[in-house]
Amino acid sequence: MLCLACTMPCSGSLCERCRFELRPAPEVSVGPGLIGVAGFVHEGSARRLVHALKYRAVFAAAVPLADAMAERIPGSATALVPVPRARLRAFRHGIDPAAVLADELSRRTGIPVVDAIRPRLWWRRHAGRSREERTSVPFTPSGVSVPKDAALVDDVLTTGATARAAAAALEGLPTLVLVATRASRMESGESPYGGAVTVQPFSGPTDRSTLRAQTTKAGRFNASSRRSVGHSRDREEYE
Ligand SMILES: [Zn+2]
Repeated sequence: MLCLACTMPCSGSLCERCRFELRPAPEVSVGPGLIGVAGFVHEGSARRLVHALKYRAVFAAAVPLADAMAERIPGSATALVPVPRARLRAFRHGIDPAAVLADELSRRTGIPVVDAIRPRLWWRRHAGRSREERTSVPFTPSGVSVPKDAALVDDVLTTGATARAAAAALEGLPTLVLVATRASRMESGESPYGGAVTVQPFSGPTDRSTLRAQTTKAGRFNASSRRSVGHSRDREEYE
């Protein structure tokens, strides 16, 4: 088998080195009455897993991510509401990661998936935009009723703006957002509005050349998968 995060040959779904790199993420406050719970901090192998899922439609990458998320779902969660990707983006990448993660979580926990948010055709990325623009992610309720204590499900939590917009679209009913990974800068107790919670700069250990090397490796790995996506599309996305 090949490691899902680094594509090196290994015996399980993740090699020992990538397993060692996974870092659990403490809960964060995302907004009034909205708590963020993540499987891992968005770095190293966890980040590579999310990228494989999100940009290269490697569905198997959802498995170790959902395993970690499932362990952290509180018993009070009544429903899983995926935060949909813009429809054109889902088409372009061949996957809606939040929907895949929600299905995997439902399989593990028995909690039903409720498609309460209708995906829009498109909205702009958040990177480099002002805070006002970042908070204006458009969501509309699908009309399906959402039970109290429903949990939103998304792939990555960066600024929390998307999760807040999704919760607001459902009149604040979701009290929790479950994500595969979250930015390491989002620490517990920081104000979601005061600017303390910001977009994580990805210039740390994974610099541009490392990222390019990973992309090339992953591209080779994906030659046999059902869909191969060009390198230029493997960019961090703040949706
Ligand atoms: Zn690995």
